[in-house]
Amino acid sequence: MIICSIQLIFFCIKRQLNRFNIEIVHESIETKPGNSLKSRLEESVGVIVSHCYQCGKCTAGCPLNEDMDIKPNQVLRMLQAELPGYEDKLLSSLSIWLCLACDTCYSRCPQEVKLSQVMDFLRQESVRQNKVNPKAKDILSFHKAFLETIEKNGKLNEVWLTLNYKLKTLNMIQDVQKAPSMFFKGKLNPIPSRIQHVKEMEKIFQRISENEGGDK
Ligand code: SF4
Ligand code: SF4
Repeated sequence: MIICSIQLIFFCIKRQLNRFNIEIVHESIETKPGNSLKSRLEESVGVIVSHCYQCGKCTAGCPLNEDMDIKPNQVLRMLQAELPGYEDKLLSSLSIWLCLACDTCYSRCPQEVKLSQVMDFLRQESVRQNKVNPKAKDILSFHKAFLETIEKNGKLNEVWLTLNYKLKTLNMIQDVQKAPSMFFKGKLNPIPSRIQHVKEMEKIFQRISENEGGDK
C-alpha cells in the first residue's frame, strides 16, 4: 500500500514536470513566429529541416563527427526545436566550420536532407551576426583568403592563397618547410595567371556583396 502511494506521487510529479517542459517549449516558439533560424534557413536554401527523423546515419558517416561539438543530426534537432538559446549555440559552434561539405551525410540520408547546405547557411549567419567560434577564426581566414584569390584572378593560385592566409592569421612559419619541395615539383607558381575577363568576376563578387549586405 505504501509502495503504491509512493509510485502514485512520483507519477503525478513526473506528469507535472512533463507538462511544464511542454509549456516552456511552446512559449519559446511563440516568441519568434516565422522568424526562427529554421524558417529563415528553409526559405533561403530550400532544405526542409522537419524531414529529418533523427536516425543518426549522417553522424555515423561524417568524417569529422568526433571533432564536432554539435553532431550533424543534433544540428538538425536543435533547428527543429526553434529555441532562441539553441540558435546562439548553433551559430557559435565549431561544427559548422569543421564541415567539409563532402556530402557523405547526404548520400546516407534516407530523407535526402542536404546538411552541407544547412552548414553553409549557418556559417553565413554566424559571420553576419558576429558569432564565429574563436577556434574557427583561422578557418574563416582561409575562406576569405580563398575567395579574395578567386576575385582577383578568376581562379585559384596557391601562392597568393597561402600568402593571403598567412597575412591574415600571422601563422608565418606554419607548413613553410613544405614550400621548397612543392616549388621544385611545379606545384607553386609565384606568377599568378588570370582568366581573360577577370573584371566580370569582380562584378559578380560585388553583386553578391551588395545582396548580402557587405559580407562575402
Ligand atoms: S541521416 Fe537524414 S534523417 Fe537521419 S538524422 Fe541525418 S539528416 Fe536526419
Ligand atoms: S557534409 Fe559536413 S556534416 Fe556532412 S558528412 Fe561531410 S563533413 Fe559531415
